[in-house]
Amino acid sequence: MSFIETDEQKSLRAAVAGLGKRHNYIDYVLPKARKGEALTELWHEAGQLGFLGVNLPEEYGGGGAGIYELALVQEEMSSFGAGLLLVVVSPAICGTIIAKYGTPEQKQSWLPRLSDGSAIMAFGITEPDAGSNSPQITTTARRAGDEWVLRGSKIYISGVDQADAVLIVSRTEDAKTGKLKPALFIVPTDAPGLNKTQMRMDIIEPDHQFTLFLDDVRLPAEALVGEPDAALMQLFAGLNPERILGAAMAVGMGRYALDAAVKYANERTVWKSPIGAHQGIAHPLAQCKIELELAKLMMQKAAVLYDSGDDFGAAEAANMAKYAAAEASIKAIDQAIQTHGGAGLTEEYGLASMLGAARIARVAPVSREMILNFVSQHSLGLPKSY
Ligand SMILES: Cc1cc2nc3c(=O)[nH]c(=O)nc-3n(C[C@H](O)[C@H](O)[C@H](O)COP(=O)(O)OP(=O)(O)OC[C@H]3O[C@@H](n4cnc5c(N)ncnc54)[C@H](O)[C@@H]3O)c2cc1C
Repeated sequence: MSFIETDEQKSLRAAVAGLGKRHNYIDYVLPKARKGEALTELWHEAGQLGFLGVNLPEEYGGGGAGIYELALVQEEMSSFGAGLLLVVVSPAICGTIIAKYGTPEQKQSWLPRLSDGSAIMAFGITEPDAGSNSPQITTTARRAGDEWVLRGSKIYISGVDQADAVLIVSRTEDAKTGKLKPALFIVPTDAPGLNKTQMRMDIIEPDHQFTLFLDDVRLPAEALVGEPDAALMQLFAGLNPERILGAAMAVGMGRYALDAAVKYANERTVWKSPIGAHQGIAHPLAQCKIELELAKLMMQKAAVLYDSGDDFGAAEAANMAKYAAAEASIKAIDQAIQTHGGAGLTEEYGLASMLGAARIARVAPVSREMILNFVSQHSLGLPKSY
């Protein structure tokens, strides 16, 4: 693992920064988010520029690079406040799973469109009753002749209104009891029997969350991703990229807030020197800088491990990266608000609204507490309490 990015990675970073600057938080993202509108123009431009599919195979229109590069894209966009939540699900989770485990037809049909952003695939694993205990999901797929019939419900599923399909994690009927034996299905968002209801979330964010009811949704046999017996591997293949991309978004948002705080601390003078000269302002910002850099380093380690083909080995680093990035970004945004004084709570600066959005990373895709459980049990060898 090298700490020095290649010229290609550096120029990708610079190109993404150009796009982020033109679609920055204050001028573009926040006004859209306040109206509850998706960042459609940004999504399509990022797709056309090849940023969304940077991790997907070249033969299907992708960039042929890895999760490292997709995380780089997400971090850089987020550093302008222009991170795209659906990058975490569409190219990172769904694209990765289909590229690794999809049938040739699924690859042909989905990967070129996920790569250029002309199609979006949402991801649905969370259920109202199972919550963090995802092995307890009850959405069930039953075989009926040539078809699969799906029944169950999902909650908090992001971007269903923008998506062409949802990758639904279910269990097959014969695996209803016992250990989770998942099966992943590509469910078109217009499939009869799939009912979506937008949730009333209290965060200012351009993407919406949905509850889904799958009321005997009938799907052709080819809607099943890959082989049913490989589904646990499929899930692992997608969940580490999800955590790494969540970390990237958090690191980027933290960078955005820190930049804003430093700019303000250099400009604002209420005594004889700028407020940034006071250590009460400077030191917390220096701490945020250190913590963001450390989180980024762990994110890069996780991405390198993952791209080296070690799906299981990347799990510890991916969990730690998501934890560290969420905590560092929430702290940085909170400190940016404090640095701005009253201005930090005005609409003009948009920092208070970003704090709400940044809090998502402490809960999703896996909560802070479940990561601490993972580290307690797997890294430290402590007993499981639940
Ligand atoms: C904005 C947003 C977008 C999302 N997008 C998606 C999506 O696109 N697709 C999708 O499938 N899901 C999505 N989710 C769901 C998300 O993954 C879950 O909210 C998350 O996994 C936590 O589940 P829960 O909300 O049911 O919390 P619960 O499981 O009910 O947990 C509640 C609290 O208890 C704690 N807790 C639970 N069990 C333990 C334990 N054993 N030890 C210690 N503490 C514990 C949790 O950490 C948490 O603090 C999204 C959520 C949000 C908020």
